[in-house]
Amino acid sequence: MESKKRGYTQVYTGNGKGKTTAAIGLAIRAAGAGLKVFIAQFIKMGDYSEIKALKRFSDLITVEQFGLGRFTDGKPAPEDIEAAQKGLERIKAVMVSDEYKIIILEEANVAAMLGLFAVQDLLKIIINKPYDKELVITGRGASPRIIENADLVTEMKDIKHYYQKGVRARVGIEK
Ligand code: ATP
Ligand code: MG
Repeated sequence: MESKKRGYTQVYTGNGKGKTTAAIGLAIRAAGAGLKVFIAQFIKMGDYSEIKALKRFSDLITVEQFGLGRFTDGKPAPEDIEAAQKGLERIKAVMVSDEYKIIILEEANVAAMLGLFAVQDLLKIIINKPYDKELVITGRGASPRIIENADLVTEMKDIKHYYQKGVRARVGIEK
């Protein structure tokens, strides 16, 4: 039997632009190498342009959404928590299945920050990660415990962003 190559845990966090696009870029690169990718998207719901584009690679990249597509101000509603919990269960199954090599938990840091699931639940996914899986966690405000347990952490540093001048998310550029 061919020996399995080690996979690592990566975290893309920080306030600057580039976290989601870095994860999508990695998914495309992996697909190019014939590796299967599972993307679990928290918080968001709907047809972002990257989701539409990834449908062209549906034989290699699977995207599932576990958010209700709304911003939770303060205390999340039971439906938001339920959707995120469903996501966690799905991820646990995906992590132990042989099908996917790369697992991307998009906006999972934000989901933990909002209390949709506990940081401890996310931590468990890192700790129990099978040897050969590559795990990617994105979103602002990564918990120190997540950072501590990851192998690679990149902070997108916001030096300047047109958002501050009132330029909201544009189709094809930010969404
Ligand atoms: P991208 O999807 O372009 O890689 P990202 O995943 O790093 O960016 P998020 O933290 O998910 O960015 O931000 C979501 C939205 O927040 C953006 O579409 C943008 O409109 C808004 N935003 C406000 N300030 C910033 C900032 N400093 N950097 C990035 N996005 C910002
Ligand atoms: Mg993002």
